[in-house]
Amino acid sequence: MSWLTNFVGPTLKRWIAPRVLREAQWVTCPKCGATIFHRDLDANWRICPHCDHHLTLPAARRFDLMLDADSWARIEIPGATADPLKFRDARRYADRLKEAAAQSREAEAVAVAHGRVDGMGAVLAAFEPQFLCGTFGAAAGEAIVAAAELALLQDAALILVACSQGPRIQDGAFALMQGPRIALALRKLAERALPFIVVLADPAFDPVFGGLLRQADATIAEPGARLGPPPADPFAAMDTPEFLAPRGGVADAARLLAEGRIDRIADRRDLKAEIAAVLSVLRSPFPSATVIDYPGGGAKRIDQSGADA
Ligand SMILES: [Zn+2]
Repeated sequence: MSWLTNFVGPTLKRWIAPRVLREAQWVTCPKCGATIFHRDLDANWRICPHCDHHLTLPAARRFDLMLDADSWARIEIPGATADPLKFRDARRYADRLKEAAAQSREAEAVAVAHGRVDGMGAVLAAFEPQFLCGTFGAAAGEAIVAAAELALLQDAALILVACSQGPRIQDGAFALMQGPRIALALRKLAERALPFIVVLADPAFDPVFGGLLRQADATIAEPGARLGPPPADPFAAMDTPEFLAPRGGVADAARLLAEGRIDRIADRRDLKAEIAAVLSVLRSPFPSATVIDYPGGGAKRIDQSGADA
């Protein structure tokens, strides 16, 4: 009997336990406190069915949500140097990277795909919130620059879904250097009149995103998305699956809209249609000023540079 207890039993447990655990996974809505079965939440694009709170959405699902079915393919991101500072806090950075890759099934905190939005060419760079809480390191900068260069090559629009807990402390100055690199890449897009659209998803706690809003032709935020400085304790942020409250100066989507810093607040389920409406105007061959009729209601008059007219 010993082979049964020593080998078969543990092997069966190893196979069955994760499946049982996954089936039993319930998620608590951070806003209304309702307990939601993970499959119901996933089927609703991770929007709480009780209060419409938008929980973080994995990058892979962003591609399904915002790009035409069967039109998109991922691109491989040029690798930034992993662990350039040989950083170690409570754990080694290299170990954190491996763990994050296994947990999120992404190679880094930004994933890029190219495809079509309602038939119009687009490159989509999306933050992966499960990869070290979407912290912004050197690899994220590489990925966004690569996405901008691909948009130039393909004469396509660039869409960035910004969702991050802040700069990645382990990349140190390499993380902070990414802002100017991205700004230069975006300038080339603007020179070719290729649209650049930013989608703010909660939480966008990186100083880089504030600068990106100024370069974007259109900025759409998900309801409740917060933009602001990174959390006071970056290590705690990486160990916390849901969000920490960062230092002061945080604005939510409603305040950003009232201050005129963003153009729209759109439900996640309407994002693709809203982006398609913007792109159809910005990519129109007619040079005159025109009006965007947003599917979610309202309209905005703009000229071809994307500025308010
Ligand atoms: Zn809720």
